[in-house]
Amino acid sequence: MKLMIKNKNCIFCKIVKKEIPADIILEDDKVMVFKDIRPKAPVHLLIVPKRHIGPIGELELEDGNTISYLIFKAKEAAGKAGVSENGYRLVFNVGKDAGMEVDHLHLHLLAGKPLKFEF
Ligand code: AMP
Ligand code: ZN
Repeated sequence: MKLMIKNKNCIFCKIVKKEIPADIILEDDKVMVFKDIRPKAPVHLLIVPKRHIGPIGELELEDGNTISYLIFKAKEAAGKAGVSENGYRLVFNVGKDAGMEVDHLHLHLLAGKPLKFEF
């Protein structure tokens, strides 16, 4: 996985630096969680590492801690959004067929109603 301190054209880097606004649900020194601007479910959050890290397609074994931390923060965000009990879905879109748009690693959290799982 490619690591870069910053990527000046990256929309998520701009959100992390608060150069453009986002509806932030939680934040620590490593991760920011904010609402997706085009929600696909009643609750749609994005769990984003603050460092610009490339997408899952560039994953290397040593990046495992970052991935597990994103999942851990997703669990915390689900609690904060009040969806832990009813459940939620965590999604990494990878590449063209998955509709991946943003080249900065991110995990989707979808919840708020029974979610379909057919394509
Ligand atoms: P992906 O398709 O997995 O790359 O997901 C990128 C997501 O980022 C999409 O669901 C977009 O709706 C979302 N998105 C793009 N720009 C913004 C933004 N400025 N604020 C919040 N979410 C955004
Ligand atoms: Zn970025």
